[in-house]
Amino acid sequence: MRFDILSIFPEMFTFLIHYGIVGRAVERGKLKINVVNIRDFAEGPHLMTDDRPFGGGDGMVMKPEPIFRTLESIPRLKGKRKVVLLTPQGQLFDQAIALSLSKLQQIILVCGRYEGVDERVRSRYVDMEISIGDYILTGGELPAMIIVEAVSRLIPGILGGERSNIEESFEDCLLEYPQYTRPRVFKGDEVPPVLLSGDHKKISLWRRAQSIKRTLEKRPDLLEKANLSEIDKSILEELKQR
Ligand code: SAM
Repeated sequence: MRFDILSIFPEMFTFLIHYGIVGRAVERGKLKINVVNIRDFAEGPHLMTDDRPFGGGDGMVMKPEPIFRTLESIPRLKGKRKVVLLTPQGQLFDQAIALSLSKLQQIILVCGRYEGVDERVRSRYVDMEISIGDYILTGGELPAMIIVEAVSRLIPGILGGERSNIEESFEDCLLEYPQYTRPRVFKGDEVPPVLLSGDHKKISLWRRAQSIKRTLEKRPDLLEKANLSEIDKSILEELKQR
């Protein structure tokens, strides 16, 4: 998997590339992250990457030529690739989108700034538009980092234990069950005894029931898409009647 990221603030990605799971994957050669400065492809004495909007109005718009040239400079890998524009007008990013992106070989992320990018970048080069939420940020860099992080941890071999993302919130359209670690008693609160029982079947039933309970309490909308067994449905009915 390779990410190519187009930005006018490439330094912002230092943290992403050098720390945590993504940093380790880059170091081990499992992931390549190539951050390209759009300004390196700007022309003219001032290397301008933005200009005033036609038709008037506040703010500046990112010029198409430097972005076109940057995109054209990026090597095309064999295999599936997508050019993704970060924009508040895009599809809302979620775990299902992260999973579908994790199957690609190359993802090119275009980070906007100011009032966004010239429309011709979108119409000519972009395969997919992604928003990370219904709010406006000043640039696409943080959204791009969120996408790299969420997608990377779904690529086989990047997380330490292969199971860790199977049981995480959203994988099954259910939120994760409560987690506990040592000490067994903290300020008078005890770890649920079932987790200390050593009975794996009981533990797994308890966790499933807790996942359903949490989802019902916090994100009931997810339950409509969840893949529930007959046992899950009876747990849900019982919880609803309480
Ligand atoms: N004028 C644009 C609009 O109303 O749609 C917003 C531009 S925003 C200030 C500047 C850049 O930040 C965008 O081009 C985009 O790359 C990024 N951005 C801002 N909010 C975002 C969000 N919620 N999701 C993804 N990217 C976002």
